[in-house]
Amino acid sequence: MAILFENFRSWGQYCAERNLPLYVPVLEYETEQKGRGETEIWEGLQRAWTVMRDAVQTGLTENMVSRSGMIDNGARKVAKAQPLLSPEFQKLISRALAAKEVNSCMGRIVAAPTAGASGILPGILVTLQEQHGLSDRAILEGLLVAAGVGLIIEQNASLAGAVGGCQAETGSAAAMGAGAIVHCVGGDVNQAFAAVAITIQCMLGLVCDPVAGLVEVPCVVRNASAAAIAYSSAQIAIAGVNPVIPVDECVHALGEVGQSMETRYKETAMGGLAATLTGQRIAKQVLIQDIDVLPDEEEVH
Ligand code: SF4
Repeated sequence: MAILFENFRSWGQYCAERNLPLYVPVLEYETEQKGRGETEIWEGLQRAWTVMRDAVQTGLTENMVSRSGMIDNGARKVAKAQPLLSPEFQKLISRALAAKEVNSCMGRIVAAPTAGASGILPGILVTLQEQHGLSDRAILEGLLVAAGVGLIIEQNASLAGAVGGCQAETGSAAAMGAGAIVHCVGGDVNQAFAAVAITIQCMLGLVCDPVAGLVEVPCVVRNASAAAIAYSSAQIAIAGVNPVIPVDECVHALGEVGQSMETRYKETAMGGLAATLTGQRIAKQVLIQDIDVLPDEEEVH
């Protein structure tokens, strides 16, 4: 019987005892839980990967302006800007922004694990594939590893900003991405779990405070920073740096911090950036816009 992804310790132990790579137990879980054959699962992953790549491409080539006006072609601007770090780093940031901007402009994305965090895995994986010349198959294995990470976080903490703050949403996606990076470049299980632990340590405490309740600001830029944190955490883990706090305890801390967070920091748009003077002004404008487009009473009946 497949493991149920209750914690990282049992996932690692299962792989060690059977000499399996990290993605195999996730594949077993998917076949058992969803009752689908392996071919079907690989095909589903390939479709998801195609949508992710398309979202990156769309965000970098089409006009991405959201209805509120808060999102205005950020990815395209970053892609053309003077590079501050390496060209690869610039691409990583612009791609994560691109896929998330597509979501904010109501385009097609993969919620991985949520729509609010939908730029992180595409940004990371498109960059990783290009950088290391990886096959699609390697990326799909990385997606399975990411799914395993997400399953454990979901069971022990949360993946939703409304439940655990932005640390749960963009933080989980970044942790999933960090695990996938290490797996895809041939790191071992301990390094993959260390990358997840370090990512959670870096994202811990981040509140959910979307301006006007729209998943635009600060959501889009947080996708870029989360992708960067995932990469830096994977780099640190691959170098053999000890995260000190084991990954399962980091997940526990994520859940504990999420539970103690006040409601105004959980997607209610009542705290943080949403509660600033500018945030409140934008919220009023958005409300007026919405009232303007409501159908007349006569049309409704
Ligand atoms: S701020 Fe809230 S809505 Fe925006 S990405 Fe983070 S968790 Fe999602």
